Amino acid sequence: MSENECIFCKIINGNASGNIIYQDDLVTAFRDIHPVAPLHILIVPNKHIASINDLNAEDEILAGRLLITARKLAVEHGVQDTGYRLIVNTGSHGGQVVFHLHIHLIGGQKMRFPMG
Ligand code: 5GP
Ligand code: ZN
Repeated sequence: MSENECIFCKIINGNASGNIIYQDDLVTAFRDIHPVAPLHILIVPNKHIASINDLNAEDEILAGRLLITARKLAVEHGVQDTGYRLIVNTGSHGGQVVFHLHIHLIGGQKMRFPMG
């Protein structure tokens, strides 16, 4: 899928309603449209990267920023002590549906593993 058709690129660029809750020079975070738990945020790179398979060595700072942002948002949303789950679905077997790399930050309830 090209960048022009990507729903997450549209949200990042303000061309689709995305309920953005955090944005900096490298990453954007917004609420998942179909939350699976009380807290369900997606953290995405601002540049279109389809999946973990497409991360390169030059993306090291970006990859770190994604994780650090997930941690900050977990603190801000009060789930750091109760705990939370970070998920990166990759490819067909991984259950990836949107091919713009994203970390799911999920919390607010006790979860089992795996989720299926
Ligand atoms: P995946 O299965 O690719 O890891 O998850 C994609 C996620 O994106 C799903 O949880 C889905 O609910 C969410 N999603 C899909 N389209 C939209 C959208 O237009 N806006 C928002 N906020 N989330 C979306
Ligand atoms: Zn995209």
